[in-house]
Amino acid sequence: MVSLQSADINPNSTSSSTAEISPNQQILPLSAQVNKSGHLEIGGYSVPKLVQQFGSPLYIVDELTLRTACQQYHRSFQHFYPGPSQVLYASKAWSCMAICALVANEGLGLDVVSGGELYTALQAGVDPRKIYFHGNNKSVAELEMALACGCVIIADNWLELEQLTEIFTSVDSLSSPPRVMLRITPGIECHTHEYIRTGHLDSKFGFDPNHIDQVLSFAQKNPQVNWIGFHAHIGSQIFELQPHQDLTSVIVEWLAKAKTLGLPMNELNIGGGLGIRYVESDDPPSIVQWSEIVCKGISQACQAANIPYPKLLCEPGRSLIGPACITAYKVGAKKDILNIRTYLSIDGGMSDNPRPITYQSVYSAAIANRMEFPATEIVTIAGKHCESGDVLLKDIVLPPSQPGDILAVMGTGAYNYSMASNYNRISRPAAVLVHNGNANLILKRETYQDLIRQDCLPRHLER
Ligand SMILES: *Cc1c(COP(=O)(O)O)cnc(C)c1O
Repeated sequence: MVSLQSADINPNSTSSSTAEISPNQQILPLSAQVNKSGHLEIGGYSVPKLVQQFGSPLYIVDELTLRTACQQYHRSFQHFYPGPSQVLYASKAWSCMAICALVANEGLGLDVVSGGELYTALQAGVDPRKIYFHGNNKSVAELEMALACGCVIIADNWLELEQLTEIFTSVDSLSSPPRVMLRITPGIECHTHEYIRTGHLDSKFGFDPNHIDQVLSFAQKNPQVNWIGFHAHIGSQIFELQPHQDLTSVIVEWLAKAKTLGLPMNELNIGGGLGIRYVESDDPPSIVQWSEIVCKGISQACQAANIPYPKLLCEPGRSLIGPACITAYKVGAKKDILNIRTYLSIDGGMSDNPRPITYQSVYSAAIANRMEFPATEIVTIAGKHCESGDVLLKDIVLPPSQPGDILAVMGTGAYNYSMASNYNRISRPAAVLVHNGNANLILKRETYQDLIRQDCLPRHLER
């Protein structure tokens, strides 16, 4: 049961020194404040005013939080790792042109997992040399698109290796050899929801680590490809540091092996996965702590194996964009079931945030226009979809509210918009980027026309 009314607002968040605050350890965006009217403010803009102006539901992205998280990763890698490094944003967490452009502006590269995410990144002006293309079943068209733009391909399986070498040999318009990284399953267990675990042996992603000799021998036989290094990712929303520490020695072992075979590999990508604080009881390590463990783990393993420091990459998604966003909804009907539960319905739900119904995820919330009211009511926040499981927050304590009040749900930047649907033909919300009292639309609200844009009515059904 979580409430975030005034007393719980982090006092640091209103100070100007945000450098030491790790965004992923905060429930609220860094710029959050309560203004004189007792309203929640993000980026110097009152949340109820934003809803008045842009409608609801509304994703509100705090530019300061996103930039701070990017800078903390970037600076930590520069500080703790003695070799070259590059932080990538895992764009599947939220892929749209403005977010891609913003993280690129902070010097980050991008990880994409589909032709659509690659297209979005390229349209946003991201340098293809800093784009890494993932996926366990890339289509031939996607591989061709990746080869044409010159991004790095992270090869996931045998079929892909065969297709890649085939396409590459048949297309003679390519000037430079394709850069390819090998994704190997590291065989590391971690404690997170089973749908978002990827590092254990029973995973659909990557080559079986027991087949590494065959994979490397394939690489030796295909010197026309530029085999640049290895990738591994162990999962998402991880609070422990140990699995990442373990991963550093495993991945350096692969690199040392490739070196003994004379392969010129020189990049290691250790994935993402750092968790964020959705509720008070969540206790993730900071971005700096996570980076330190990873950087020192890799450099020590390299020293022990007596190999030069490779270029080190990581690709966080959730810990960059997750804490930067809140979703604002309008409160509607209330249903009191005596001695059982009180449902408070809102004007969105599982279509704009499918995480609770998919992963039983938990969130924190506040009534944005009653920040100074005491939280005295236990309510369950229900979405408006035709599904009993469409519940965003269960048994949360809030101040008594009225229809039309604004409910703010925190930490909705990652895997909300990117997983949003049109279930029940509900339009996807708009998103605004706020900073220093300015609000810029980054995604328009879908209209009813948008909803039928792809519909086709066969002639015999027209009337
Ligand atoms: C999902 C994913 C990430 C990002 O994970 P986060 O938990 O959002 O940091 C990075 N790399 C790969 C390969 C992924 O699948």
